[in-house]
Amino acid sequence: MSKTLLIKNARVLVTMDAQRREIEDGAVFIRDNVIVSVGTTDALPQDADEVIDAAGHVVIPGLVNTHHHMYQSLTRVIPAAQDGELFNWLTNLYPVWANLTGEMVHVSTLTAMAELILSGCTTSSDHLYIYPNDCRLDDSIEAAHTIGMRFHAARGAMSVGRSKGGLPPDSVVEDEAAILKDTQRLIETYHDASRHAMQRIVVAPCSPFSVSRDLMKEAARLARSHGVSLHTHLAENVNDIAYSREKFAMTPAEYAEDCGWVGHDVWHAHCVQLDDAGIGLFARTGTGVAHCPCSNMRLASGIAPVRKMVDAGVPVGLGVDGSASNDGAHMLGEVRQAMLLQRVGFGPDAMTARQALELATLGGAKVLNRDDIGSIAPGMSADVVMFKLDGVGFAGALHDPVAALVFCTPANVNHSVINGKVVVKDGVLRTVDLPVVLERHNRLAEELALA
Ligand SMILES: [Zn+2]
Repeated sequence: MSKTLLIKNARVLVTMDAQRREIEDGAVFIRDNVIVSVGTTDALPQDADEVIDAAGHVVIPGLVNTHHHMYQSLTRVIPAAQDGELFNWLTNLYPVWANLTGEMVHVSTLTAMAELILSGCTTSSDHLYIYPNDCRLDDSIEAAHTIGMRFHAARGAMSVGRSKGGLPPDSVVEDEAAILKDTQRLIETYHDASRHAMQRIVVAPCSPFSVSRDLMKEAARLARSHGVSLHTHLAENVNDIAYSREKFAMTPAEYAEDCGWVGHDVWHAHCVQLDDAGIGLFARTGTGVAHCPCSNMRLASGIAPVRKMVDAGVPVGLGVDGSASNDGAHMLGEVRQAMLLQRVGFGPDAMTARQALELATLGGAKVLNRDDIGSIAPGMSADVVMFKLDGVGFAGALHDPVAALVFCTPANVNHSVINGKVVVKDGVLRTVDLPVVLERHNRLAEELALA
């Protein structure tokens, strides 16, 4: 039996369709997990099994988060890591993360996803690259299933410890054969290549400074033999560039190309220091970038040349990055920071509110190599979020509610539909008991900080 859902009376519906239509008094008709029709309220069916009255709401496609480390929600604002740049920050956190457990991965993933969903996100990737004790990616995947979020689970890895010239301590790195074997197991167990898939696996060695060239190449081979995407960190700051030049005698972009890490099935986080040749390479090959403005500011990594990337044709999505370097993973807030940071770097016309919103929807979908999310149009996955505009934060801005969503104080969603299911109603997450999850999360975070 199919189930229908009607969202009607939207103040404005932002479709992100081919014409970028914004429909006043908009409506969306959904059957099961797929959008059937989009238009004005009077032009659509008047009834459905479930009806959401979106009067006074801006309705947009669910936001797509392309970079995160959800376990880091347990290690926000650790004093020793509050004020360092990337390498210093990592060096202070690796020993804390060495005590991570499977239970911690599960609970922190629920927490991070709750925060994302409430901030307008419906699809997220997560890059879990540290597997001490009994940690497994399965713990994250189970959490995504419970909370009802569309999930690209990236099997990260570190294999080059300090004794071999890498950055992480030897105690947190894994054997390369074991990494590849576990990654293959995860693909075979969980990867769903079908349209509207809720669950995909990504092959994701952590970064050039924590894995070998061999693992980068083998990872690419494994991913391509199964048709799954590749993800890593690249060209994040000047020390990252220096490491690449010293160890590989190449720029990060040259190294990525040498390892087979370019193509529409690859996306790299940050790329703050990607040079012009790298931008050209990414544009030619369709290689994606996850832009994480808050994290880049937090770690003083610099301003990624996003305007230049987009103009060149590089697919760019947004990411909140891990909560140890943000430390507020608000997806709509990230859209706002993306717009503001481009202006700091490149002038007031470097990015508009609507362009920033496009990065977080269509851009993110492209980066994750999907054509079934990121817009509200017939045949697309039913991922739709609704923001209410009656709060003090929007007062005086209602003449342009779409721009207000990005310019004004970032709001939480009032309703969220993910894969046709109402996951947030009237501001309340329906799939998990959030206060219970948070209490558990905070207890585990304290254990980790004191260990
Ligand atoms: Zn990251």
